[in-house]
Amino acid sequence: MEALVVAKGLKKYFPVRRTISEVVLMKSRLYVRAVDGVSLEIGFGETLALVGESGSGKTTTGRMLIGLEKPTEGSILFEGIELTKLSKKALRKIRPRIQMIFQDPYASLDPRVKVGDQVAQPLIVHGLCNADEARERALEILERVGLTPSTEIYERYPHQLSGGQRQRVVIARAMITRPRFVVADEPVSMIDVSLRASILELLKEFKRERNLSTLFITHDLAVAKLVADRVAVMYLGKIVEEGAVEEVIYNPLHPYTKALISSVPTIGIRVLEKLKIVGEIPNPINIPPGCRFHTRCPFAMDKCKSYEAPWIYVSERHGVSCWLYSAE
Ligand code: SF4
Repeated sequence: MEALVVAKGLKKYFPVRRTISEVVLMKSRLYVRAVDGVSLEIGFGETLALVGESGSGKTTTGRMLIGLEKPTEGSILFEGIELTKLSKKALRKIRPRIQMIFQDPYASLDPRVKVGDQVAQPLIVHGLCNADEARERALEILERVGLTPSTEIYERYPHQLSGGQRQRVVIARAMITRPRFVVADEPVSMIDVSLRASILELLKEFKRERNLSTLFITHDLAVAKLVADRVAVMYLGKIVEEGAVEEVIYNPLHPYTKALISSVPTIGIRVLEKLKIVGEIPNPINIPPGCRFHTRCPFAMDKCKSYEAPWIYVSERHGVSCWLYSAE
């Protein structure tokens, strides 16, 4: 097996509710094409950052990879097992090995339950140990994520913790079952800037200690640079560029990637000629034909408006979908 997670041709279309008059007039149903043909691989112990604006389909991709969303089309192999074909019961058995760290630590914790019990809960829900052992292991993992003294933290409720502490609780809860694959969805975007580095470092430590594979969803290339081995840039439901983190950040190819990088002043990346893109990301119900970025691309050519660019490898592990790099 070459990779822990292999996704091929993933699509997720959400049907748009029709009005009564549209039903009466038999107007065809519209679909939000949130993810529209994503293929990716995540190696053992590897972190792949999925980067893009909001509305690009990153979170839906992540949710499909851990079985929280059923794909409309496509295949997902985890440890060689086809996740899309598993029953709910079979998926539940795999769940301890695949976990998600959500963006909003406050919303993902139950305000009425002690944080220690919430950390212990996955062990009990999945029948991995009894209540006493679960408590012991929760105390250990609270300690491991830096929440000390763990016996005191265990008894607290989410509102009695700071934002950074709450995110550590969420990480502890995800890690307590010793997952092999984690989807971290913007895990530092809602916490104080001064605390972000320590949370990212904690995730990197888990990766090193446990050979953890991670899909790290972020809109921030500076964060991707800190945590990822590889980066995939997503635009309107598709990956438009992918490669080793250094290669994509220091030698971006796709105009969208260049625009993302040139809009981040803090990352100490060599100053790119400022590339501004105009307008908003188009509505995923009505995706432009051809290259879906052509409505905002300063380099758009005639063929970009009608034909989708092929995937081109410019080096062994750096690929892009853009007509600028095609010999055709
Ligand atoms: Fe721009 Fe054309 Fe490349 Fe799309 S294919 S990014 S429109 S140059």
